[in-house]
Amino acid sequence: MSAKRIHTLGLAVFACLLAPVADSHNDPHWTYDEQKKWGVLVDPTYNPKFPYAECAIGQKQSPVNIDSTDVHKTDDIDEMNIDYAANPLSVTNNGHTLRVNVSSGNLHIGRNLYSLAQYHFHAPSEHHLDGTGYPLEIHFVHGTEDGRLAVIAVFMQTGEFNPEFQKILDAAPQKAGATTTDDATLSDPNLLLPKNRKNFYTYAGSLTTPPCNEGVQWYVMTETVQASAEQIELFINTYYRNNARGEQRLNGRHLLMH
Ligand SMILES: [Zn+2]
Repeated sequence: MSAKRIHTLGLAVFACLLAPVADSHNDPHWTYDEQKKWGVLVDPTYNPKFPYAECAIGQKQSPVNIDSTDVHKTDDIDEMNIDYAANPLSVTNNGHTLRVNVSSGNLHIGRNLYSLAQYHFHAPSEHHLDGTGYPLEIHFVHGTEDGRLAVIAVFMQTGEFNPEFQKILDAAPQKAGATTTDDATLSDPNLLLPKNRKNFYTYAGSLTTPPCNEGVQWYVMTETVQASAEQIELFINTYYRNNARGEQRLNGRHLLMH
């Protein structure tokens, strides 16, 4: 793959993350039931014709199982500084998840400035901790101007009612491809983050949905957030269950813990 192609792809992915309208592109339809086939789905307009090839041949794919006995604990990682803001509520049902669209909010990691593009939900969790999953996982997706991606993952476990999650459930359209906007309601992604934002696992991985592009730095928070059993049931029964990619091989990657 040429440098130009990689650059173009990076920009395309970032544009896709930023622009909800990009959901209407003509890339091949994919499902979680057939994730082993993602890499060989064909789009004749691509050259080569497999737009999701990286899902199959990539060596730094996500999600992974985090073995807490095999992570390298270090303070020698850039501090994460989360600077999210409340935005008018906009929720898209994109056929694979519920996505909350965001127009402002930043993430500073070291000297890098990332913009928060959107956040969305997987049920059950995609990452595992010591082989154990959680009922849900939230992904906060960020990009830099030059197309680098960082995703913060937060495990959601069964517990107390979560008012911020309820706003999203109340607004979410049931029809795939639809977006609900509610300018009168503010959604604040800060309220879906754990209190402890200092401690996380980090590793180099990929998007967990086609096209599975690598070059994504993952930050999996160690502290979880909660939602009630009823809220989790509502997400699973009304929207998405099993919208989670299976565990990918580490292939020699080492996870760091801050
Ligand atoms: Zn995700």
